[in-house]
Amino acid sequence: MHETFPRDGHDHQHCIDEALAIAEQLCADRGRRLTPLRRRVLELVWESHQPVKAYDLLARLQQESASAAPPTVYRALDFLIAERLIHRLASLNAYVGCAHPGHRHTGQFLICSECQSVAELDDADIEQALSRRADAMGFALTTQTIELEGCCPRCRRGMDKKECPA
Ligand SMILES: [Zn+2]
Ligand SMILES: [Zn+2]
Ligand SMILES: [Zn+2]
Repeated sequence: MHETFPRDGHDHQHCIDEALAIAEQLCADRGRRLTPLRRRVLELVWESHQPVKAYDLLARLQQESASAAPPTVYRALDFLIAERLIHRLASLNAYVGCAHPGHRHTGQFLICSECQSVAELDDADIEQALSRRADAMGFALTTQTIELEGCCPRCRRGMDKKECPA
């Protein structure tokens, strides 16, 4: 997985398979249980590169099992966040699969306001620069998730660049 927006017609099944395989490996290494439900929620989050909302996940799960309840889904999402397999995007109140789940990072997200595709940067320099500045101001930083809004390459190709929302 890479720091780019998804290409048109790329083999997305490969993205899903790879994400699930990595998740299984990471959970096994950490002695954490990727239960069938947690795995299924991760798979549904990875169904596209667009962030997905919790109630959409719940609706999908309820189609598969009438007993799926909101707390179950939120607990599964909390687990996946804690294991750093997915990220929550506050500006959209939605979840997206982590593109590089093997190591600790906060993430900078480029979010296309046209198609809502998300690309994740993982730039330690940006992270450290912000930590230093916050520290200098006596601010104890707990989380830093940066969400940048704009227009992805595919949407820019599909329209006159001037039409892209600034
Ligand atoms: Zn993909
Ligand atoms: Zn990530
Ligand atoms: Zn786009």
